[in-house]
Amino acid sequence: MDEVTLDEHLPESKVKWFRRGLKAWAEQCLRDFPWRHTTEPYRIFVAEFLLQQTDAPRVVPVYHRFLERYPTIYDLAAAPVDELAEILRPLGFHFRAVHLLTSAGEIVERFEGHIPHTEGELLELHGVGRYVARSVCTNAFAQGLAVLDTNIARILQRFFGLPLSRARARNDPFLWQAAQRVAPKREVGIWNLTLIDFGAAVCTARNPKCSICPVQKRCYHARHSTDAEANALIEPSGP
Ligand code: SF4
Repeated sequence: MDEVTLDEHLPESKVKWFRRGLKAWAEQCLRDFPWRHTTEPYRIFVAEFLLQQTDAPRVVPVYHRFLERYPTIYDLAAAPVDELAEILRPLGFHFRAVHLLTSAGEIVERFEGHIPHTEGELLELHGVGRYVARSVCTNAFAQGLAVLDTNIARILQRFFGLPLSRARARNDPFLWQAAQRVAPKREVGIWNLTLIDFGAAVCTARNPKCSICPVQKRCYHARHSTDAEANALIEPSGP
């Protein structure tokens, strides 16, 4: 997709209207989680790792237990993998323990125990993808990087009537560009959280709550929900 196509799908006036609507919603409805009260890079890094493909409320007790047992990156890097896997067991995905341990070792060895602060460096770490890298940059280092996962992709596709990607949505370069275009210039971290919570509470994968949605009036999906194309948008595109 080229820039002209992006402009066609995301007219500035509609983007601004969408931002205003969701910002007003967020003032009342943003959820409260412990990792949202810190900008400490290690805590943010841990939280983003634990949150991958997992409902945020399930992560809370594990996050507390984890930080109690491994308060620093050095404690984590020295952890026995079986012990770490046991702490992470309620979240599933055994590979998460291996990835976390490996990346902690890399941070200690290559970055002298400091969490890297650029997207490129974070992406070099074992098990770190674009979503986690950009979340860490934005939440720990105040960089204005938008994130994209299947839930955010779904919201953007529905509201703006973006074309469906044949690729998995979270890997689609066009949708990454769209996510950055839609994000405000300031407070991108809060904006990312707004989309995450809006996707969990209102624009859900199945049975979106359009009747109570603050941006329903200009939503492409709400207007075309009987069209085959729009119906296809409600299908989740991946984990
Ligand atoms: S109107 Fe419905 S489909 Fe559109 S953004 Fe709101 S909840 Fe999602």
